Amino acid sequence: MSLPPLASGPEGPDALRPLLTTVLDALAAGLRARGGPLPAGGPQAVAARVRHAAGDLLPEHGDPHALTTLVQALAEGAADPADPLCAAHLHCPPLAVATAADLAVSALNPSLDSWDQAPAASELEALVTRTLAAHAGMADALVTTGGTEANQLALLLARETHGPTLRLVCGANAHHSLPRAAWFLGLPEPVIIPTPTGTLDPAALARTLATLPGGPLVVAATAGTTDAGLIDPLPAIAALTATHGARLHIDAAYGGGLLFSDRHRHLLTGLDTAHTVTLDLHKLGWQPVAAGLLAARDAHDLTALHHHADYLNADDDTEAGLPDLLGRSLRTTRRPDALKIAVTLKTLGRTGLGALVDQVCDRAQQLAALITAHPGFELHAPPTISTVLFRPAGAPDETVAETRRRLLTHGRAVLGRARLDGRLWLKATLLNPHTRPHDLATLLDLVEGNTPR
Ligand SMILES: *Cc1c(COP(=O)(O)O)cnc(C)c1O
Repeated sequence: MSLPPLASGPEGPDALRPLLTTVLDALAAGLRARGGPLPAGGPQAVAARVRHAAGDLLPEHGDPHALTTLVQALAEGAADPADPLCAAHLHCPPLAVATAADLAVSALNPSLDSWDQAPAASELEALVTRTLAAHAGMADALVTTGGTEANQLALLLARETHGPTLRLVCGANAHHSLPRAAWFLGLPEPVIIPTPTGTLDPAALARTLATLPGGPLVVAATAGTTDAGLIDPLPAIAALTATHGARLHIDAAYGGGLLFSDRHRHLLTGLDTAHTVTLDLHKLGWQPVAAGLLAARDAHDLTALHHHADYLNADDDTEAGLPDLLGRSLRTTRRPDALKIAVTLKTLGRTGLGALVDQVCDRAQQLAALITAHPGFELHAPPTISTVLFRPAGAPDETVAETRRRLLTHGRAVLGRARLDGRLWLKATLLNPHTRPHDLATLLDLVEGNTPR
C-alpha cells in the first residue's frame, strides 16, 4: 500500500510543490468560471453546483482529483474580497505574503498549547504580541480568533478582576459580540445606551453612570463601528470611566489598523487609556482569517487565564524553564496565527501597512464624493475610516434591500446593509487597496442599474 505523503519532514516540500501548482491552477480556473465578485444564481444555484462537484464526499475508494475539483468549486463559488466589487463586510483580501506564511504553518503544524509542540512558534508569538501591544500603548496581548473572542476575553478578564456582579455598559452601536459575551459569561443584563448619532454620546454615558446603582462596571467603547466605521469619543469616555471608577474596554477590531498610519493614527487618541483593547488584523491588517488580539494595559490581568494541566505545563517542567503557554488562551490546540502576522509586519513595515490604510481611507472619500455628486444617490455621512453608507435617493427601505439582493443574485456586486437614523442604507466597506477609482464608478453604475423602479 502506498501511503499518502506528509506535508512536513524530509519529503514534505517535494510532496507539496506539485500540489501547490494544482491548487493555484484550480484557483485560477475557479476564478475564470465565476467571472465576477461572487457566483451568480443565488444560494440554490451555488449549493447545487457545490453538491455536483463534491459528489460522494466519502467514497469507498478515494478520488485523486478531489483537490482540483473541490478547490475549483470553492473558488468558483467564492465571494472574493480581492474583487473591487466585493465590498460588503469587514472581510479583507489577504496579502499574498501572509497567505504564503500561513502555508508554512499548515505544513509544520505547530500547536501553541505547550512548548514541546511549538518551540520557535511560541517565541515568535510572544514577540508579535509584545510588539503589537506596545504599538497600541498596552503591555501585552493574547492572540485570538478575532474580535468576538477578544471581546469575550475582555469581559472575562474584567469579571475576574471585579467579580460576577460586573455589569457591561455600552452603546447600541457596540458589536453584538459584547452583549453576547455578557450573556455567555453569566453577567448581569448589560446596559445598552441608545446611539442615535452612531457613536456613544459622553453626556448620555454620564447620565447612565450617574443613575446606575453601585457595583462594578465595564464600559465598552468602539473604535470603528461595524455598521458605519465611526469612532466613539474615546478621551471623553475614558475621562468618565476614570471618574466613576469603571473599567474601560475599547473594541478597535476595525479601527485598530489606523495605528499604522501617520495620517490617521490621531483618530485613536485615548486608545491607550483602556484596560483592554480588541484588535483584529483580518480587517485593516490584510490577514487571512484568523488574526485577532486582545491587548491589556496591565499584563497582570492576563494571569487570570492561568490554568494547569499536568501533561502540558507540569510545575517541574515550568520550574525547569519550559515556557507555560496554556494561560495564553482558552483554547488548547492552537494554530500559530502569529507567523503570518510577523511576516506581514516585517515585510511591509509600519509605513507599508500605513500606506494600505491610507489608500482604503482615500478610496472611501472618493466614493463618498462620487455619491454626493450623483443626483440619484444620498450619502449618509462623510466616511471616518473606509465605510461608506448610501442609498438610492428617495427610495423606500424595501427598494434598498431589494437592490442589494439583486446585485448578489446576479453575481454583480457584494454590498452590505446597515440601519441608521431609522433608515436602511447600502454599505460599502472598502478594504481592498487595489481598488481603483473607476471601480467605484462601476459599483455605483451597478447599483443604479439594479435599483427596482
Ligand atoms: C468585526 C468586529 C468584531 C468581531 O470580530 P470577528 O473577527 O468577526 O470575531 C468585533 N467588534 C467590531 C467592532 C467588529 O467590527
